[in-house]
Amino acid sequence: MKRVVFAVLLCLPATAADADLILYNGRVVTVDAAFRIMEAIAIKAGRITAAGTSAEVLKGERSPRTKVVDLGGKTVLPGLIDAHVHALEAGLSEFRGSLPVLDSIAAIQNYIRAAAHSRPKGAWIVVPRTLPPRLKEMRFPTKQDLDVTTDHPVAFDGSYVWGANSLALKISGITRDTPNPSGGEIVKGPDGEPNGILRNASQLLKGVARAETFSDEDKVAALAKMLQLYAAAGLTTVGDRAVTPAEVAVFEKLKARQQLPVRVVMTWRINAARPVEEVVSEIRASSWTTNQGDDWLRFGTFKVTLDGGQSVGTAYQRMPYGSFGRQLYGQTDPDARGTLFIGAEKLYRIMGAARDKGWQLTAHVQGGGAIDTLLDVFQRLDHEKPIAPSRSHVMHGSFMSEDALNRMQRMGVLVDVQPGWLYFDVPALKRVFGLENMRYFFPLRSYIDRGIIVAGGSDHMIGHDKNGAVNAFNPFFNMWASITRRTREGEVIYPQEKITRQEALKMWTIWAAYLQFGEKTRGSIEPGKFADLVVVDRDYLSCAEDEIRRIEPVATIVNGQVVSGRL
Ligand SMILES: [Zn+2]
Repeated sequence: MKRVVFAVLLCLPATAADADLILYNGRVVTVDAAFRIMEAIAIKAGRITAAGTSAEVLKGERSPRTKVVDLGGKTVLPGLIDAHVHALEAGLSEFRGSLPVLDSIAAIQNYIRAAAHSRPKGAWIVVPRTLPPRLKEMRFPTKQDLDVTTDHPVAFDGSYVWGANSLALKISGITRDTPNPSGGEIVKGPDGEPNGILRNASQLLKGVARAETFSDEDKVAALAKMLQLYAAAGLTTVGDRAVTPAEVAVFEKLKARQQLPVRVVMTWRINAARPVEEVVSEIRASSWTTNQGDDWLRFGTFKVTLDGGQSVGTAYQRMPYGSFGRQLYGQTDPDARGTLFIGAEKLYRIMGAARDKGWQLTAHVQGGGAIDTLLDVFQRLDHEKPIAPSRSHVMHGSFMSEDALNRMQRMGVLVDVQPGWLYFDVPALKRVFGLENMRYFFPLRSYIDRGIIVAGGSDHMIGHDKNGAVNAFNPFFNMWASITRRTREGEVIYPQEKITRQEALKMWTIWAAYLQFGEKTRGSIEPGKFADLVVVDRDYLSCAEDEIRRIEPVATIVNGQVVSGRL
């Protein structure tokens, strides 16, 4: 202990030239207030101590013990921040084996055929979770699609909606006369027979194995692996957006072993599908609140899930799902608008209780109806006490509106966005809702022009491959999607909402840090901040636009240490 204090005293004079590491002859994109580009940086004890020209930094910061690295002109960016991941779930998803890429009904059928070969007759085959809007055919598979084996019952996991083949229906005793379970539906084909689509009714499938189980050590290992993959993708901080007390314990275990390769900001998602008194008393009894923890692991936001998802046809919309909703989600009521899980009054009481405990607030909201409900509640809270200082935000907010944008601006509400969905989901969603209803689908330009802080994220939840995962967590792909607004069909969706490369980079650095109350220590390359950086193989600011998504990290540095790649 004594020696540490002594060392600190020795390097107190600002002129002490004793950096641990100097990176020079690079193109250092600082993302400081003036967006300055430098050539070199010096790092000491996990912090940036200087940024400037190569000559300045080498002259002012170098000592005989300093490690000096010539970047050879390579670009350095502030460590990237993904404001929205689900690290443990994603880590476990391929912990025991890799998942197939299922991007078409043909690919699903190949998966089923291969599985049928390798297991005994009668054994269930479950197609891993797949989102129909991302299938080439843009339709929900029916029993006919899944009948490529007649010897095995087959279930297709589409999250809220499941598919079943003929044998699975037969084994489960599901016929045209089976009553719908409460809140669910056995969808019928034109012949009046069940067509295999089970909306919120997968519990009717008999004998299908669901969740795998994992030991605590499995979970720690899966989480460590996932966080390492984030580091390899150039991320130095992630916001985990739905932790339970059990998951917090896994993160804490990893931290206690000093095995966190990246910083983590945790969002507590409470189960609000209970009587409001129960939810409120859990909030009051909890010892957690925003910013509790340290620079490696801390609490960020309090969250509830307010509506369903656009990828499963349950996001709570201002407009109906219409006839394409039937093809895509097995939605039989063309007037259906999705599901709001929590009414406004209940939401107000829950959010009020969390606010009173000092929490930053958010809710999963995808449909416009859910966004409006959340903003109504924020407005009530804002009348009682200004909400802006809490940096509360809309999460996803896929289907914005002019009115919602104006209200966010007035109250100082931020947003956490997933621009990768422009690429993946717009082709199907515009067929469901019509192009005119996509006008404010991730309206990045509108946010920024109103001064609304936008944090970039992926909502990564399944898979280890940064480009193939659901959702792709390659930050360069997501920045490219923000800049180009290009869909997987090649169309540019509402080009007036395009943003610049500089703005996209801010979404994955300083603005995401701001949402996490971390902008004083992270999100830009400036003396005094943590040495969280990524060295990349192409110049982000000047490479061809289509190259942006192909940028690869060369080295990721967190707290001054190389955690992935090499210098
Ligand atoms: Zn999420």
